[in-house]
Amino acid sequence: MSANLPDTPELRRAVIETARALVDKRLTRGTSGNVSARVENGFLITPSGIAYEALSEDLIVFMDLEGGYFGETLPSSEWRMHMDIYRGHPNAGAVVHCHSPRATALSCLRRGIPAFHYMVAVAGGDRIDCAPYATFGTRALSEAMLQALGTRQACLLANHGQIAFGTSLAKALSVSEAIEELADQYLSALSCGEPVVLSEDEMSEILRKFQNYGKQANQQDPEAGDAFELPTRRG
Ligand code: 13P
Ligand code: ZN
Repeated sequence: MSANLPDTPELRRAVIETARALVDKRLTRGTSGNVSARVENGFLITPSGIAYEALSEDLIVFMDLEGGYFGETLPSSEWRMHMDIYRGHPNAGAVVHCHSPRATALSCLRRGIPAFHYMVAVAGGDRIDCAPYATFGTRALSEAMLQALGTRQACLLANHGQIAFGTSLAKALSVSEAIEELADQYLSALSCGEPVVLSEDEMSEILRKFQNYGKQANQQDPEAGDAFELPTRRG
């Protein structure tokens, strides 16, 4: 469950820094893409059509969860996708949408990412789906996105790009980067043949292992069973 942070200048700055990181990491260009973070009673979102280098804290828009916004500046045209994720996914603390090159190329083939690599589990499931095409900034796009997300944290958007969420801005950004990397690897593999897809059993073992991955020995969840064989501690 994500914490409901208060709307502060620091959090507004973090939204701007995450949006600029999308450009630095070559996940987006120009004014493509948008970023938001959940706060008490709503979320903070990047404005529509303003270059990330021109952003300042006062241009970040506060929206409530009923589609209302406050202030002079119009929120991102994709506000509904962000709002619907916060409404439908209590664990979403931040959302990143971008037109990263390889994920976008795959979305133009209208192909999702199957379990060709175990890292598809980064989005919390055994695949990443591609939502059917709908015009940007529409309710239809948001509905298609919700379907494609299912219980996962990311999906592709046909002929458009990708969207990802996480408990924090850093986590949403890192899922988005992972999706781009997977799309890149999948397209490379497709260009040489038919990638072998891992089975349901192989992927459910990965999903169990992921519950303890990155945790120290004393933080491991015993419910995840014997999926993670720890070495013997000698000292
Ligand atoms: P905004 O500038 O309105 O956020 O739109 C960018 C975008 O990626 C639309 O899908
Ligand atoms: Zn977009």
